[in-house]
Amino acid sequence: MAGERLYRLTIHELHERLSRGEVSSQEITEILLKRISEVDPQIKAYLMVAEQEAMKGAHEAAHRIAAGKISPLTGVPLAIKDNMCTQGIKATCASKILEDFVSPYDATVVKNIKEEGGILLGKTNMDEFAMGSSTENSRFTITRNPWNLDTIPGGSSGGSAAAVAADECIASIGSDTGGSIRQPAACCGVVGMKPTYGRISRYGLVAFASSLDQIGPITKDVEDCAILLNVIAGHDPLDSTSANLPTPDYRKALVKDVRGWVLGIPKEFFVEGMDPEVEERVWEGIRVLEDLGAVVKEISLPHTGYAVATYYIICPAEASSNLARYDGVKYGFRAAKSKDLMEMYLETRFEGFGAEVKRRIMLGTYVLSSGYYDAYYRKASQVRTLIKGDFEEALQGCDVIITPTSPTPAFHLGEKVQDPLQMYLSDIFTISMNLAGVPAISIPCGFSSGGLPIGLQIIGRPFEEERIIQVAYTFEQNTDHHTKRPQLT
Ligand code: GLN
Repeated sequence: MAGERLYRLTIHELHERLSRGEVSSQEITEILLKRISEVDPQIKAYLMVAEQEAMKGAHEAAHRIAAGKISPLTGVPLAIKDNMCTQGIKATCASKILEDFVSPYDATVVKNIKEEGGILLGKTNMDEFAMGSSTENSRFTITRNPWNLDTIPGGSSGGSAAAVAADECIASIGSDTGGSIRQPAACCGVVGMKPTYGRISRYGLVAFASSLDQIGPITKDVEDCAILLNVIAGHDPLDSTSANLPTPDYRKALVKDVRGWVLGIPKEFFVEGMDPEVEERVWEGIRVLEDLGAVVKEISLPHTGYAVATYYIICPAEASSNLARYDGVKYGFRAAKSKDLMEMYLETRFEGFGAEVKRRIMLGTYVLSSGYYDAYYRKASQVRTLIKGDFEEALQGCDVIITPTSPTPAFHLGEKVQDPLQMYLSDIFTISMNLAGVPAISIPCGFSSGGLPIGLQIIGRPFEEERIIQVAYTFEQNTDHHTKRPQLT
């Protein structure tokens, strides 16, 4: 096996090898830890590498495998975004205010992964509290896009997506409030899914905007997405918003057939101002599916133009409330030498939060304040209902909806940091699905002339992740974009 780059394997490929005894869970974990030590100094996808924990998990997995108890995730090393609780390990949210916070318990998603014998390699970088689209809002480090080290990996799950693209893990877990799984997956040329709101437990995910947040997989291919979803989806009594519905076997949706399927193409998503190469690649992708027998139909999501404005009222409103708990008393960081309690609160939050987080807290507090509540928050909630209605109506007349994931390929580091509005527009194609609660996946559909990956987004009806998996799988099995890997030295 010498000379083979085993870190490149997908979950299903690694599973085959583990089952046949061609590699052990300890060997693959060591290979990945070595890979991280070699490439992460350039990429900086990880905030923390949990070597001891990983080797411990690898030994446990080896015992299971020896006892014949291997399941698809047993012995597979994974990375987790740093806004999820991992018992005994830090969960910082890339914020100074949680710099030394050690999770007292495992998030349900992490618990499910461990129960299946999955191995935790470490915690990945992100925008502070998941607020951002480039991972540049991390208080600790800048993550680079493995395809071009001068560009952003996307955000906020930039570390998780970059770690997959750079083969620093077999797959990873991210969270998506307005695009934070799909947009970085698109920027890094990997697969990322935001499942239906309620499909996956949020227990142990640090809350950002609770009515929008959803955890999901970031993987090298669609089959891995289905495998990971099988492990993390399902009802959880610890999260009152998790849906009490049976979970299908998502691998059954790995079917290469879209004949007769109606693909809705919303005209509002193909507008002037978007990068022409993105538009071209996405249309080429749609044509691939059409050639395979799918039917293309123009549809309308008429309230799309209000999505960004609506999101930037609802999301900060919820964030301002969720982040009120970081007061220097209960969690993490506390400012030193304050003369009284009020000064301690003020100083702690002043020093503990970065600029974007403060901006959201102020915006959110403003739109919730009496006198402005009706004009902003209530209005936004009403528009949200209209946006949700757009999807309900459109999805009655088509099987899935197809759009670009992001209006541009990865942009340059520093390009948008001084201009929050420009940064907010990075999510123009992903935000509506969070407002509507519908599932969506981003898959690679080609490259820009500059060699940067471009993502195609497939959106489905609530709790019909199988359909988007089937379309994504069919596309992937008839193209080779997902097999390309960045050249790292
Ligand atoms: N970029 C969006 C924001 O800054 C979405 C972030 C996310 O999905 N966590 O809020």
